Parts: sequence; C-alpha cells; structure tokens
Amino acid sequence: MVMEKLRYERPVITTLNAGVTNKFGTKSLHAPVSTIDGVSVKEIIAKYGSPVFIISERKIRQTYREAYRAFATRYPKVQFAWSYKTNYINAVCNVFHQEGAWAEVVSIFEYQKALKNGVEGKNILFNGPEKTDDDLKTAIQHGSVIHIDHLDELYQIIELSDTLKVRPRVAIRVNMDTGIYPMWDRFGFNYESGQAWDAINKIMLTDKMDLVGLHCHIGTFMLSANAYAIAANKLADLALGIIQKHKKTLEYLDLGGGFASKNTLKGSFLPGTDVIPSFDDYAEAICSTLLNAGFTRENLPLLILETGRALIDEAGYLAASVIANKRLSDGRRAIVMDAGVNILFTSFWYDHRISPVEQAGSQTENTVIYGPLCMNIDILRESVTLPLLKKGDHVVIHTVGAYNMTQWMQFIAMRPNVILIDEKGQTHIIRNRETVEDLNKMEEMPEHLKSFKLS
Ligand SMILES: *Cc1c(COP(=O)(O)O)cnc(C)c1O
Repeated sequence: MVMEKLRYERPVITTLNAGVTNKFGTKSLHAPVSTIDGVSVKEIIAKYGSPVFIISERKIRQTYREAYRAFATRYPKVQFAWSYKTNYINAVCNVFHQEGAWAEVVSIFEYQKALKNGVEGKNILFNGPEKTDDDLKTAIQHGSVIHIDHLDELYQIIELSDTLKVRPRVAIRVNMDTGIYPMWDRFGFNYESGQAWDAINKIMLTDKMDLVGLHCHIGTFMLSANAYAIAANKLADLALGIIQKHKKTLEYLDLGGGFASKNTLKGSFLPGTDVIPSFDDYAEAICSTLLNAGFTRENLPLLILETGRALIDEAGYLAASVIANKRLSDGRRAIVMDAGVNILFTSFWYDHRISPVEQAGSQTENTVIYGPLCMNIDILRESVTLPLLKKGDHVVIHTVGAYNMTQWMQFIAMRPNVILIDEKGQTHIIRNRETVEDLNKMEEMPEHLKSFKLS
C-alpha cells in the first residue's frame, strides 16, 4: 500500500480562543460535510458542476410537517400558503403544494407560475402593492382573494367590479405597531390610526366586493413570538368589530410570514439556532391569542400563515469549490471561491455555516472568503475559522434555501444548476444552469451595429 504524502502545513502562531475545553482540547467545529441526505457532495459536483445549489426534499417536508403540527394541534382551522418569492422554483413550490400549502404571490409573474403549477385560483392569495387592471382582472376571474394594499387599489377594484359584473373576493392588508421597530407601515392600512377600519367600512358600505379576510405581514426574521400575539390580537379586534357592526363573519385571518429561519444574523453574538423562537413558540402566541379573542365556535376564522424562509432555508445548500488561496497584505488568509454574492445574496446579512467537504488538517486559521467576481463587494465572509483549504477543495454553505434562488443576479457569471435530492436519495435537476445562448436570446442587434472592423 502506498501512503499518500502528507500535506505540508505552514506553521503559524495563533491566539487561543476560549471555548468549551475538555482534556482533549477544544471541540472541532469543522467536521466535514461530505454527504447531504446520504448523497456524496463530491459526486454531485462531478455530475452537476460547481457551484451547485442542492435542495433536500426530505428536509422541506419534515420542516413543513413540524410547522403544520405546531399550529394544527393548537387551533382547529389552519392553512399554510407558500410564499412564492422565497423560492419559486416550480419543483420546490410543488413539494409545498403536495403537502397541502396554497400559494401566496406578490406579483402577476408569481401568480402565473402558481396557476401553471396547477394551483386553482381560489387557493392563490394575491399580495403586493403593484397590481395593474389586467392583473386584477385575472385574479378576479380566477376567484382569487386580492389582498388590498392601499386606497387607490380599493378604488381600482370598485371600478373593475362595475365593468366585470363579478363581486371580487378581497382582504385588506393591515399594518400595526407590534413593538418591533422600524414598523412596516408602508404596506397596507394602519390599525392604530383608524385607516384599516376606514377601509373596512368603505368596502362594507360600498358593497361592490366581498370582504373575506384580513391580512398582515409584520416583518421578516422576527425574533419575537410576542409580536405575533399583538398582531393576532389587533386583527381579531377588527374581525370582531366587523361581526358587531356589519353582521358579517370573515372567512380567515392571515398572519403572514416572517418567522425566523435557523440562520445567524451578522453581528449576532449567539448562533441563530440558540436565539430564534421555535414553531411551537410562534404557534402558541398566535393560537392562544385568537382562541381567547372572543370568537365563538361558529365564527372562529381560518388561520392562514404565509411562512416563507423558516420552511425552506434549512433545506438549501450551496456546494462550491476553492479556486485559489491568497495572503492579503495585512497577513490575513483569504480564499477565492467559485460562488459569490451574485448567487448568495443572503450573505449580505447572514453568517452562513460553511463546512469543508473533504477531511482537512486540524490546523485552522481565520479566513476571508471571496467570490469569483471582479468586483470589490464580492465577499462571502469577512472572517471565518476554517481548515487550510487548498485549490480544488470543496465547501458546503448551509441554510441558503430562502431568497437566494430568487434574488440571485446574473452579473458577470451565470446562475448555476439547482438540484433536488428526493426522499429516495435520487438527484434531479430542477433548474438548469444558464448559458450564454440563454442570455443572447433576449438581445437584439440593430442592423447598423452588426459589423465592425478593428485594426
Ligand atoms: C415575503 C412575504 C412572506 C414570506 O416572508 P418570510 O419572512 O420569508 O416568512 C409572506 N407574506 C408576504 C406578504 C410577504 O411579502
């Protein structure tokens, strides 16, 4: 047997970090992640290229069921609606739809995606501040509920209902003080100032549409479960006011999204897993508030949740490769990776977990991680302790399932393959990597610019 020559490790002097120490030293935080759901990361990269996004179907279903159970055991009528903008790759959406989630969309593009995926209009909730006449007509004709964002939209729907001779199904979005600042008061109608009640009265007394629900989405990555109790209380107050004044029972209260995922915000002292509320915490806050609000069994509204990031973040991984090692002028170690901020938008606010794929030496060093872009902002991480990775080594960046595959940009580089590992451990491409042909297909060359001569 021929032993592989040991890799040379340059000696360095580093300060010791206080940590949980036992007689064997400090616990290694750098256990390699060589498989995901039992599938070899190196084999995935060999087959689908690097970088590559990897989504675990098993993890999506497991997380969804955990969230659903937290609510359904505490409240008799619960419905989730998958927030398309969080990850609208069709295969991902369909995993959620198979689990029973409706669709929550914030643009006509997302609306069309949901329809195409086979979601019926009545199971699509249409949010967002921008809806054109055509968008609204489409939603009304399909029987979707339109979540009205502002008075101009309300008047627009009144006008349309006259010409379409259909009664649109609507809800209003309510914003409110939940003790979390800055307040998200740019969307919807304010509760405290009476705007929301004013919009409700306008809808009820104009009698051109059916008010079927109330909606709020109080923020995102909310670390306070109590904020949801306050929101639920304020929505319930409006709903009970509608029963009292207009003798009308709403079908649902929609508490929106915003539950934190198991990620760590930049600047956070403790890792996200230690500080974020669980689904049970959020569910307890919301459900007990609604159950105690004063509804009877007959008029208890359906509880809708539009949870996005907390349902998908953990199911997403990005596998990438080391392109080069560098020593910066101030002595810091740096590596250049083939994945940058262009495809990992959330690295602007999260400290993602970054793990080597191969077993590396026990020596570690604080490392700056750069992406491949020829642009100064392309820093995946300012400082992270990593083993001494060499060119060609791989890493897995974890908890990246939310927002990266929708907010990524085609800048300098192409967007990579996205693959799904199904519950049997089979891998499937669910979004093909972009090619230069894909991009050129969208461009046109005016006749007079078609030729040139260089000397
Ligand atoms: C973005 C959004 C969601 C999902 O938010 P998360 O923070 O990902 O849970 C839900 N509802 C609305 C209206 C949204 O805009």
